[in-house]
Amino acid sequence: MVIEALPEEGVPAAEILAELGALRDADLPTHGGRLFAYVYDPAVEGLDALTASAHALAAHVNGLDPTAFPSLLATENALVGAAARLLGGGPDTVGTVTGGGTESLILAVKAARDAHPEIAAPRLVIPETAHAAFLKAAHYLRVEVDRVPVDPVTLKASPKKIKAAVTKDTVLVACSAPSYAHGVIDPVEEIAAVAAEAGVRCHVDACFGGWTLPYLRRLGLPIPAFDLAVPGVTSISVDLHKYAYAPKGVSVLLHASAALRRPQYFASADWPGYTMLNPGIASTRSGGPIAAAYATLRHLGESGYRRLAARTLGAVRALAEAVRSVDGLRLLVPPETTVVCLTSDDAGLDVFVLAEALAARGWHTQPQLAYGDIPPTIHLTVTAAVAATAADFAPALTDAVAAARARGPVVLPDELVALTRTLTPDALTPELVAGLAESLGVAGGGVPGATVNALLNVAPPRLREQFLIEFLGLLQRPSVPPRN
Ligand SMILES: *Cc1c(COP(=O)(O)O)cnc(C)c1O
Repeated sequence: MVIEALPEEGVPAAEILAELGALRDADLPTHGGRLFAYVYDPAVEGLDALTASAHALAAHVNGLDPTAFPSLLATENALVGAAARLLGGGPDTVGTVTGGGTESLILAVKAARDAHPEIAAPRLVIPETAHAAFLKAAHYLRVEVDRVPVDPVTLKASPKKIKAAVTKDTVLVACSAPSYAHGVIDPVEEIAAVAAEAGVRCHVDACFGGWTLPYLRRLGLPIPAFDLAVPGVTSISVDLHKYAYAPKGVSVLLHASAALRRPQYFASADWPGYTMLNPGIASTRSGGPIAAAYATLRHLGESGYRRLAARTLGAVRALAEAVRSVDGLRLLVPPETTVVCLTSDDAGLDVFVLAEALAARGWHTQPQLAYGDIPPTIHLTVTAAVAATAADFAPALTDAVAAARARGPVVLPDELVALTRTLTPDALTPELVAGLAESLGVAGGGVPGATVNALLNVAPPRLREQFLIEFLGLLQRPSVPPRN
């Protein structure tokens, strides 16, 4: 198929939609309960049509100026209000609608950094299981990160170790409720107390599960206190495009008070154009995702989210049981929320090969590389749509495990392993990367297979990052003819 965005003559609508549909056929299935990452599917009849219409209604509204588009201000305030009521907010709670979890975390770090202009070299203290978006925030904002080991068994942050890491230059302490990789909830009460005692802000990253934890608690799960009601918690983030089941592009960052939020804002009246006033990173931004999120919350309602949480919980239990029932596999941690994370202690059963075998059977999981003492794992983000397919997972898993054992683990050539262990990131030349990409079959795109994961897995994190950046650079190449 010819991919040409700008033809000489415009193409009829039906033809374009057919082309896009054909392109979408190569994608992982966003619906159907067989994709355990990237997508959050409630499987609610009619919701996609509603959100598409709501998105279209506001697609051209510009968040650049909420006074010009009061509809945007009203819907944003409604989303922030709903998040605040769900997450322990009070009359002083304020917030910002952002484009996603990463933006929410960057803004939380920015607000904390800019609240302390007197600190020359500001630092952020996080558990090592905190989302990589904190590392991105630190990278963008030039804040140093102190990463604190977690409990090796529970994989939860240690308040004692966090306390020991806080210095006079610390501007923010953060933790997860729950963590993305393993779905475990850090001890927020103790960590927030440590931060408060040191006079430091405390952010709770509830981007992943913030919208589902309150409903899981109502179903009887022992969910500890994690939200703005906890003394010492100064901000919390929740992604509406995760367990609020809104289409992509919406997260909420809540602050305990307007004073805490103020250093997050940016204004400039010092140029000859319009005065610029932005709560977040983007300036021009579409009202589409905000209207779609508003429609989702209003359509599902509290009772809808309760029902969806119940279905999700049933699916989590079924998947966990499936893992327990297969010889050679084990749960890395008992599922505490909506993540099932599994690993293998059996040398003949390579989890990256297993992920490939599952994919070949139509089940798309998320391989996670080894980190410190944590072995390679397979991550399953479980959403309500999985309730319909969970019973089919156990036989598929049994079958995939047999296939993965039969194939055996990936064996990388010794020279390649030696090279990967000794190579420094700056020694990675474009030729070397191109050669590797070619031999690993990365150049054609597609989900990285077991061999690529095996290679990344033996590389130190800095080298992994360099490989990934170079690989992406190879994929992101338009076809542009020579100038004439
Ligand atoms: C997804 C996630 C983020 C980042 O969110 P994006 O919307 O992908 O930018 C941050 N923290 C946690 C815990 C997450 O699960």
